[in-house]
Amino acid sequence: METTFEAMLPNISQLSALFDNMYEGVYFVDTNRKILFWSKGAERISGYSSGEVKGFHCFDNILMHTDNAGKNLCYDGCPLLGAMKDGKECEARVYMHHRNGSRVPIRVHVLPVKNEKGEVFGAFELFTESLPQSDMAERLLQLQKEALLDSLTELGNRRYFEANLFGRLKQQERYKIPFGMLFLDIDKFKSVNDTYGHPVGDRVLVMIARTLQNNVRPFDLVSRLGGEEFTVLMDKIEPGHLLERADKLRLLVEKSEIFADGKKINVTVSVGATLSVPHDTAASIMKRADSLMYEAKKGGRNKVVVG
Ligand code: GH3
Ligand code: MG
Ligand code: MG
Repeated sequence: METTFEAMLPNISQLSALFDNMYEGVYFVDTNRKILFWSKGAERISGYSSGEVKGFHCFDNILMHTDNAGKNLCYDGCPLLGAMKDGKECEARVYMHHRNGSRVPIRVHVLPVKNEKGEVFGAFELFTESLPQSDMAERLLQLQKEALLDSLTELGNRRYFEANLFGRLKQQERYKIPFGMLFLDIDKFKSVNDTYGHPVGDRVLVMIARTLQNNVRPFDLVSRLGGEEFTVLMDKIEPGHLLERADKLRLLVEKSEIFADGKKINVTVSVGATLSVPHDTAASIMKRADSLMYEAKKGGRNKVVVG
């Protein structure tokens, strides 16, 4: 009599819907390793539709599982066969054949199925790709993070800032809406390093980054250009509000503090604040903000100069 998945496992038909919804591939074989069920996940991972594999044996040159050394496991070392022989589930990392010809690294988990007498009459194999693809996506994200974020403060770095500045200049060119830019430099920061050491200086940089980031609007961009210099790009800012917002940040930095060696440490910043003007370039607006910041230094530090 023709064996079918449903005949062998009468209560399993509802489960096949569940298997079809699993991300993993699932298939079922009888003791001759004839494939009786092939899930949607298995179709996705292998490229073979259920119709193309059902009724074939897993050694019929379809899946062609191999190990790391390239040994064909269908004839020697088949995880399915092994698990059915000793009645125990097993796991393995193998390679399978994809319909497009490529080798797909997979992790397999084999579950032998027994009848009420304890005799094995088939096995399920669950398999997932162990593709470097997800690792690749993660690695790309990591690389992107490393390329654009400042590792100490996790703010955008100079490259990220410049990319955004170019974007805003283009936007201004098209829509004629100016944006604000703040250039902040920590006052006498060298003396913090000299007095408390570089690691404490680093903690101060992180503290300032957090204070700035926590107190801008969600669409403003705070970056660390490098060293003890920060910038804030502010969209949709009324000219009258630039000084107010910049001064609020200056004051919040002044009020931020950390404790080190039992001492309270706080620093101040000098700020140059400017609005973009028509025909500004990245260089011209940076230069203007930087000069304004120097005026704030000359004017006694812990100040905002707008221009
Ligand atoms: P001014 O008020 O004129 O800006 O004085 P300043 O001491 O802040 O200026 P200066 O440019 O002379 O010194 C900047 C210092 O910032 C020197 C350097 O040791 C320190 N610095 C730069 N990058 C880092 C960093 O990543 N971590 C720490 N801890 N210090 C840094
Ligand atoms: Mg500086
Ligand atoms: Mg400084």
